[in-house]
Amino acid sequence: MNILVINAGSSSLKYQLFDMDNETVLAKGLCERIGIDGHLKHTPNNGKPVFNEDIALPDHAVAIQAVIDKLTSAEYGVVSAMSEIDAVGHRVVHGGEHFAQSTLITDEVMKAIEDCIPLAPLHNPANITGIEACTKVIGNVPQVAVFDTAFHQSMPSKAYTYAVPHKYYDEYKVRRYGFHGTSHRYVTDRAAALLGKPVEDVNIITCHMGNGSSICAVKGGKSVDTSMGFTPIAGLPMGTRCGDLDVSVMEFIMKKDGLDIDAMMKVLNKESGVLGISGTSSDFRDLDMAAEKGDKRAALALDVFTYSVAKTVGAYAVALGKVDAIVFTAGIGENSASVRKAIADQLGVLGVAIDDEKNKVRGEEVDISAADAKVKAFIIPTNEELVLARDTKEIASK
Ligand code: ADP
Repeated sequence: MNILVINAGSSSLKYQLFDMDNETVLAKGLCERIGIDGHLKHTPNNGKPVFNEDIALPDHAVAIQAVIDKLTSAEYGVVSAMSEIDAVGHRVVHGGEHFAQSTLITDEVMKAIEDCIPLAPLHNPANITGIEACTKVIGNVPQVAVFDTAFHQSMPSKAYTYAVPHKYYDEYKVRRYGFHGTSHRYVTDRAAALLGKPVEDVNIITCHMGNGSSICAVKGGKSVDTSMGFTPIAGLPMGTRCGDLDVSVMEFIMKKDGLDIDAMMKVLNKESGVLGISGTSSDFRDLDMAAEKGDKRAALALDVFTYSVAKTVGAYAVALGKVDAIVFTAGIGENSASVRKAIADQLGVLGVAIDDEKNKVRGEEVDISAADAKVKAFIIPTNEELVLARDTKEIASK
């Protein structure tokens, strides 16, 4: 069974075609600058050449058609006809309270995804566009929506309720939702496998640290708390997002600098986080190098980040009562030995200790715990696309 997995943004579209009989990737690629001019990079995994060229992509339907053409072409293809694509899985950012798991896309489901647009005004419209483009081009294959928020729908009300007048929840559904759910779910399952126990029997704290970062407390396979909130700006300081902030800081700066709310939100989303603190970069590789050369603000940005992660892990140890393992994943979690080390060093109180030699590993699934650690520490490369493909296979096969 071949499954096409799609992650549609407002001007981009990432895809992977999986052969789910053996969970291998047949081809993957990225359409960029959709609606502007257009570029397609298509990488087949069967030895055929990579296609990497500017092509006109006026809208998402044209982009999907271009992807299908490449997947089925003699020169760059991996299947012989569109009929060999059995189902399509779409990443959808926000499922609100409607969706606690992935679902077959129907007219009703599309309506519910549309209803969530106010909660994710940048992301859900792009995801909807991707689904509509597929319907137009591929027609009648089953399509499945996999939501970033779904995994966190198991949080108890004490974890998702904000201390504001309750009418805002009742009337507008203002609450913590959490994101990166597909990644937290994937690494949780892998961590349980590494522990050699059923996921129901283990408590895990997963640290997804990339351009966006979030932490999740997972009890018996279910999310019970997570650091992102109503939107992905909350929780940890990130590449350019501020993370948790005393809301009065906004009022203070807006009055001082005469900013309106849109300008203020731009500062908090695009100019804050480790970029804001360091004044130089949102990229942890740059910060690591700068800090090593004595750049104090880069060092401070890294300190603020790792302290925030460690504090949140500490809080989630309380939420869980007992912790079997912590997991590091995504760009920073999988690659930065120094960030993992700085976090682990602050978690000695929980019994976390890592082995410096094992911690040198990059991008592999590995146990980096020290011999005397009471809590295991794992690096687990995330694979959100595989989760999408698995969910799509399961739902489309029903
Ligand atoms: P996204 O959230 O966009 O999927 P990623 O998970 O790819 O992002 O993570 C991107 C982040 O990973 C960047 O901040 C980048 O600096 C960081 N990163 C990648 N490689 C390394 C590395 N070797 N050392 C430190 N940070 C790294």
